[in-house]
Amino acid sequence: MWHAEEEQRSSRPKISLPFGAGRFWAATASFVLGVVHRLRRRPHFLSRSKIVTANVLIIYRRLSRITPKIINSKINYRLFVIIVFLSCFYSYVSADEKWRERRSEHFIVYFKDVPEDFINEVKDEAEKYYRSITQNLGFTRYDFWLWDKRAKFYIYNDSADYVKETNQPAWSAGVVHYQEKIIKTYPQMAGFFDSVMPHELGHIIFREFIGEKTKVPLWFEEGVASYQERSRRLGADSIVIKAQAEKRFIPLEQLSEMDIRNNQDKTSAELFYAEAISVVSFIILELGEEHFTWFCRALRDGKSFEEALWHFNCRDLSALNKKWVEYLKNK
Ligand SMILES: [Zn+2]
Repeated sequence: MWHAEEEQRSSRPKISLPFGAGRFWAATASFVLGVVHRLRRRPHFLSRSKIVTANVLIIYRRLSRITPKIINSKINYRLFVIIVFLSCFYSYVSADEKWRERRSEHFIVYFKDVPEDFINEVKDEAEKYYRSITQNLGFTRYDFWLWDKRAKFYIYNDSADYVKETNQPAWSAGVVHYQEKIIKTYPQMAGFFDSVMPHELGHIIFREFIGEKTKVPLWFEEGVASYQERSRRLGADSIVIKAQAEKRFIPLEQLSEMDIRNNQDKTSAELFYAEAISVVSFIILELGEEHFTWFCRALRDGKSFEEALWHFNCRDLSALNKKWVEYLKNK
């Protein structure tokens, strides 16, 4: 999952259209063709002054050069344009109407032919996670997801529908547009409620709080998101302790240099995530949730990651590393 997710984050989110982009452009193109046709037949129909007439003529000449002459000469062109335009417009409107929606306090769930039970579960679980994530990160005072700021889920019918409509690769199980707060997925996914949903909501809530452009090490960002996955959180410390025993442990300064997105080695990716979750758990549960919140607020207000470490009573990363390693010894 993290491969797809990181890829998505590194690129600018696309403008999301709830219908096929192809149909949209087809409708637009046929509309333009219709206008061209109209201009070809009566180029002066808009003329109220010489300037307008001249402009219309220039546009007309340019457009008429790209008009397909073969079609024009062989069939009734006007009829052709009307039929194409109507069919495109119909498919555009009907595709758009296919999305149904359910709203809750902080979410809107869009779906087509998906069982209602699943949709209700998405809505209820998402609300539950919204509460628990804002609580465990100490962001409860900032209720920023109301009304038109609600996050959106698009639930596609199945994997094939999702792949076709989102242009994602066939192996992709879901995609997140962080800035727009949109999660797109489909119901057949294993581990969606326990893993993907809390992880991605964790990313979105954390980013919204600290600011889109704020720089933090990847381990911290992934640690905060993965901390929301209960099963990973519970297993993280033991993976790190085992790595320490096998002399594979990566200290925080080194972890900060790692860009796991380009790393195909499963074992080191697993260790990267386990360490990230373990240190974030240590900060929130041992140093205290309020310190974590102050730290995030300092980041949001423009302090660098190193400067903000002051909130954990640490001069630098190696001081934080030392405290964390001490804590693991007593586990
Ligand atoms: Zn992530």
